[in-house]
Amino acid sequence: MNTLLLGSGGREHAIAWKIAQSPKVEKLFIAPGNAGTAQTGTNVNIKADDFPAIKDFVLANDIQMVVVGPEDPLVKGVYDYFKNDPQLAAIPVIGPSKAGAQLEGSKDFAKAFMMRHHIPTARYKSITAENLEEGFAFLESLPAPYVLKADGLAAGKGVLIIDSLEEAKKELAEMLQGMFGDASKTVVIEEFLDGIECSVFVVTDGKDYKILPVAKDYKRIGEGNTGLNTGGMGAVSPVPFADHDFMQKVEERIIRPTVEGLKQENLDYKGFIFLGLINVKGEPLVIEYNCRMGDPETEVVMLRIQSDLVELLEGIAQGDLASRILIQDPRAAVTVMVVSGGYPEAYEKGKVITGFDHISPENILFHAGTKEVDGQIVTNGGRVIAVSSYGTTKEEALAKSFAGAKALQFDKKYFRSDIGFDL
Ligand code: ATP
Repeated sequence: MNTLLLGSGGREHAIAWKIAQSPKVEKLFIAPGNAGTAQTGTNVNIKADDFPAIKDFVLANDIQMVVVGPEDPLVKGVYDYFKNDPQLAAIPVIGPSKAGAQLEGSKDFAKAFMMRHHIPTARYKSITAENLEEGFAFLESLPAPYVLKADGLAAGKGVLIIDSLEEAKKELAEMLQGMFGDASKTVVIEEFLDGIECSVFVVTDGKDYKILPVAKDYKRIGEGNTGLNTGGMGAVSPVPFADHDFMQKVEERIIRPTVEGLKQENLDYKGFIFLGLINVKGEPLVIEYNCRMGDPETEVVMLRIQSDLVELLEGIAQGDLASRILIQDPRAAVTVMVVSGGYPEAYEKGKVITGFDHISPENILFHAGTKEVDGQIVTNGGRVIAVSSYGTTKEEALAKSFAGAKALQFDKKYFRSDIGFDL
């Protein structure tokens, strides 16, 4: 089977690495990809949301499956684009329809969906400029800190957590006036939940589901979870607190009603569901839905899928996921993200990366922001390379990844050396 994977980050390199292991796959293309995916398959110079160019490529190269990495093409309707085009309709797209992708594309939609299906989540109110006073009253009814979320996609920056009530009111008004453009025309105010987070990934064919290995990511730039939020500085799987009892609650209270709810509401959804969960005294609540895999969690989840990923993707496409096999690797997997100095604020690109020849065969490198220039691999983003490893314990895996992160060299390199510290 010829497969096209859309996207260009560490997540896509990890998915490509796993897909390429399948005997079911003949050719694997990645659009647009990065210097790492070029070693796993063939990069194609097409943007992940350039649907007409994707169509031409798919038809010219006899593509039999399209796997969507990032949220953007999904929220913009790549699934529907294929379904509504007679030349493309028979080619499966792994990812939800535009309507299904609203679980991520609109926090107001996601919260209302959770209310309709009695899925545990923080209390909330959705506010627009018309009911600002109601927003102030709701804030006054809550204890600090205050959580304000732009309704739409805001590149991971649309959530503010604020200690003072006065400040929260001021920020609410500013968000509604367009702090995040159209994305914050509606703002979701939420009750603050105090707990520890984890990421649960599910694949669904719209009827049945399978639960992938659970992971925990580390979002802050600084050690001890301090400083600014990033796209993610590392991840660990499994997650000790996501034990059998906890996961049973997650499945009964969250996963099953989510898949049932999508079905009941005729939201066409054949792909990955990412549940951002928080464990509050042993009880799971949903912080957010995403309609795709997470990054850097994918860089550990793919390591812990022992069976053939393409078997699951085929099950999604053919609507017989229930009969497909998923075997989890019992080992721990971790990833440590090597980033450009300055990230997540201003940083420089184009730094030559060396040290690849000092990387142990026990490290699996997933490129995030890299590209090849004149035979050299250079930095091309804030997050540069995810250094993933297996271990019989998380500590063993971490020691390998930290050694790999040290071995890679480029000007102003940085990584967190405390990934997994709190587990
Ligand atoms: P992401 O970049 O993860 O996609 P996002 O912009 O979609 O983020 P959320 O995941 O909803 O936004 O929130 C970002 C982070 O803010 C969460 O990972 C969590 O740490 C924190 N957060 C969000 N909602 C709450 C809440 N109700 N209580 C406590 N913390 C929260």
